[in-house]
Amino acid sequence: MSNRRNLLKIIGVSCLSWILYPYKFVLSETKKIINQNLTSKQKEIMFNEGTERPFTSELLQEKRKGFYHCANCGNKLFSSEAKFDSGTGWPSFSEALPGAYHCAKCGVHHGHVFDDGPSSTGKRFCNNGLCLLFIPET
Ligand SMILES: [Zn+2]
Repeated sequence: MSNRRNLLKIIGVSCLSWILYPYKFVLSETKKIINQNLTSKQKEIMFNEGTERPFTSELLQEKRKGFYHCANCGNKLFSSEAKFDSGTGWPSFSEALPGAYHCAKCGVHHGHVFDDGPSSTGKRFCNNGLCLLFIPET
């Protein structure tokens, strides 16, 4: 009896992944180069989940007030209010603007989210600086 139930579960899961497979494909297909001036390194991160070398981003030193935008589509991703020095060598933020991480607009890869962030959120959004465009508040 329990074997049969397990078998049904396995069949169920594989059916589900077949049903979801085309959606996954569609999602990855929606990533498009919008900014025609992206460098090959930026493309490598955004479209092939690459990572920039730590401590190379100019944005690590950026302390001005403003917003960090997606370097591909310009979507606003982070506020300077959420930026903190994580010591990891990548620009880090305690929270993304609502629904913004892994750019919700163009779908490109930006970095990774970890659960060891500052106490306010517990999250650390570790972002490749090359994927961000900082626009200071004027
Ligand atoms: Zn984008």
